[in-house]
Amino acid sequence: MQRQHQEFNKIESDNPFNNALAQLASVTDMLSIEPEYYEMLKSPEKEITVSLPLKLSDGSVSTFIGYRVQHNNARGPYKGGIRYHPNVTLDEVKALAMWMTWKAAIIDIPFGGAKGGITVDPKKLTLDDLERLTRKYVNAIEKDIGPESDIPAPDVNTNSQTMAWIMNEYSKLKGHNVPAVVTGKPVELGGSEGRISATGRGVAICVRESVKRFLQKDVKDVTVAIQGFGNVGSFAAKSLMEMHAKVVAISDVFGAAKAKGEKGYFEDPFEKLLEASNRLGSVTKIPGVEIISNAELLELDVDVLVPAALENQITEANARKIKSKIIVEAANGPTTPMADKILESMRVKVVPDILANSGGVLVSYFEWVQNLNRDHWLEDAVNGRLESKMVRAFKDVLDFSEKQNCDLRRAALVIAVNRVVSAMKLGGWH
Ligand code: NAD
Repeated sequence: MQRQHQEFNKIESDNPFNNALAQLASVTDMLSIEPEYYEMLKSPEKEITVSLPLKLSDGSVSTFIGYRVQHNNARGPYKGGIRYHPNVTLDEVKALAMWMTWKAAIIDIPFGGAKGGITVDPKKLTLDDLERLTRKYVNAIEKDIGPESDIPAPDVNTNSQTMAWIMNEYSKLKGHNVPAVVTGKPVELGGSEGRISATGRGVAICVRESVKRFLQKDVKDVTVAIQGFGNVGSFAAKSLMEMHAKVVAISDVFGAAKAKGEKGYFEDPFEKLLEASNRLGSVTKIPGVEIISNAELLELDVDVLVPAALENQITEANARKIKSKIIVEAANGPTTPMADKILESMRVKVVPDILANSGGVLVSYFEWVQNLNRDHWLEDAVNGRLESKMVRAFKDVLDFSEKQNCDLRRAALVIAVNRVVSAMKLGGWH
């Protein structure tokens, strides 16, 4: 295992799968698992690549490439989102699938890890083209997904409408209604109350718990900057503003908006910010804000930084410029392994993605349970269960990191890998 640990020191890359492998290698000295389990966990169990030719509304024909990667299902059916983005690659999907395995284990739900994606810029397609592309993708991977085998969910540039199309196409293929094949559906189609806000709400809970533990402060007394104002970033902002945290900057792909004025944080209700951003097309268009770049947002002098956009945002190049005391990773893989080492030397606390954004998969699990039981829980019940599971997982990771004197990422990873390997051993995975 020593060799893998040394490998970690050499790797710095913008390939997320290399980073996921480096993270795994970085904990081998803390794991008491046999090398064969480490070897099994390094590779996904199944990688699916499909070609999706599509006649577009303008009459032209384009061929898109789609992926579904199933990393490990020792603890339950594969589970993971579907991403539509021009930069989607097989390696990115492999990394995200591995992180899903750890995430489901750390929040302690009976799911394995998977991820999917299509290499496409959805902004360049009409809604009709996107629907037909989604339906083609479902036809191509139909045999590999299902309520008992692999359950997709939304991710970057996919949403409840995308899940509704997937559910409808899959149900047509099966000849009956199958709501449990996807989570993150519209509530009218069997989606869970509280699912849309779950990831951001879980992130806000991690912010609240981490400032209490690391800064001995109440969440209402801390400043926060949030990169990304999509599903996760916007609901993290909403929950944090409801907790009276001081949100000083938000951003999207077009740039960042910093609050102006004496107080220096957003005083408008969240709904007003969201409405202006949606109506005008970007947070940078919200009236009265100071426009800064996404790079500048990351380097703001705030108590907590919440990267909620994409991977590889905090790297060896900018880690030394980070001024926040705590980073709560709402996005998957926003910090590279080399940046992690720099941040550790600067004593910045990093609440890792596999813990911080696990609220989404947790409420996805609640949705799946409701679908299988033909049940419907009220939002308060969902949020109450989310709160207690997140606080419990946060405490597990923190206690372990203090006991082992290691950072939170390694603590979370060791707990997760041990849980997965324990299931593999009990199941006899040799
Ligand atoms: P989304 O598509 O709803 O939002 C992404 C946001 O990031 C948008 O505001 C977009 O403008 C912004 N963005 C894109 N590129 C950017 C860039 N280069 N710089 C700054 N901002 C940029 O996606 P989402 O569902 O909110 O997912 C965000 C992250 O959270 C991803 O890493 C995703 O894997 C992760 N995540 C999502 C969920 C979920 O439930 N949606 C759950 C767990 C993790």
